[in-house]
Amino acid sequence: MTKPLFETVALIGIGLIGSSLARVIRAKGLAGEVAIATRSAETLEAARALGLGDSYFGSNAEAVAKADLVIVSVPVGASEAVAREIGPHLKPGAIVTDVGSTKASVVRQMQPHIPDTAHFVPGHPIAGTEQSGPQAGFAELFEGRWCILTPPAGTDAGAIARLAEFWEACGSTVEEMDPDHHDLVLAIVSHLPHIIAYNIVGTADDLEAVTKSEVIKYSASGFRDFTRLAASDPVMWRDVCLHNKDAILEMLARFSEDLSSLQRAIRWGDGDKLFELFTRTRGIRRSIVEAGQDTDAPNFGRNAPKTDAAE
Ligand code: NAP
Repeated sequence: MTKPLFETVALIGIGLIGSSLARVIRAKGLAGEVAIATRSAETLEAARALGLGDSYFGSNAEAVAKADLVIVSVPVGASEAVAREIGPHLKPGAIVTDVGSTKASVVRQMQPHIPDTAHFVPGHPIAGTEQSGPQAGFAELFEGRWCILTPPAGTDAGAIARLAEFWEACGSTVEEMDPDHHDLVLAIVSHLPHIIAYNIVGTADDLEAVTKSEVIKYSASGFRDFTRLAASDPVMWRDVCLHNKDAILEMLARFSEDLSSLQRAIRWGDGDKLFELFTRTRGIRRSIVEAGQDTDAPNFGRNAPKTDAAE
């Protein structure tokens, strides 16, 4: 058996992402020991019952004491409090990373609390589902996905390389990015789609002329694809909106302008404009499939009953 990449990995937060990390670390033998800490006794007990780690802690500070790699997987709004707790207890030479969906805010919150004797390399695996909690994780979550690292200038190159090696062992391809650029890119590819989904599902729920039972009954015509995103964790997405405010507002402004233009094309019967846009967007879908980021099976490969009307 080959030597594990790290002797001890501490996982702070053991929800969907933390527990997926625990599972892939175990499956691939990436650590000699996995120490787990989480805020609530219930979640810690669930992690223990699932056998996700080797040791379990109610205190983040105690969990990191022996760790060579610390991975913080909590909602981004909780990053500062966690960094404040663990900072004084980090082992010299330890690598501290996170998985938060926003990066500039996480760097601002965590960096001041990480001592010079440790290496801070923020990260974001571009992988997830709409589910949360330790039961929701699975070892293959990061397989074939990207992981973006946003190390501050001057970060030790060896620490970045070791963390990159870890993510590659989890099945991901690693790319480095500036935190502000990460936040802009993610605002359009992830944050805006979730906000649009939350909005459309909220609008449908508020309608008076169409009943809720009709919305649910006929959802296979398109609506249900938004409901997957709109079922995502409310705490996580509240924090993403609050912590990537500027980039999201910029993308929303652009989106609203384009929506007004689409509205005008529909009002004035500008079929050419509609056809041109819908053809262009179909091409984007094709590129995503070609890049291996989704299946090319119709309807995402769902085994749809015959009554489904795909409109
Ligand atoms: P999750 O399943 O809801 O798990 C959240 C974990 O954070 C739990 O261990 C929870 O502890 C802990 N936590 C919650 N609030 C906390 C607080 N105020 N202080 C300290 N700990 C707290 O969440 P997740 O989906 O794994 O997301 C974790 C991070 O990954 C987030 O930053 C998110 O932006 C990022 N991310 C998520 C996805 C995705 O698709 N879900 C994808 C990429 C990145 P208790 O249960 O003990 O309270």
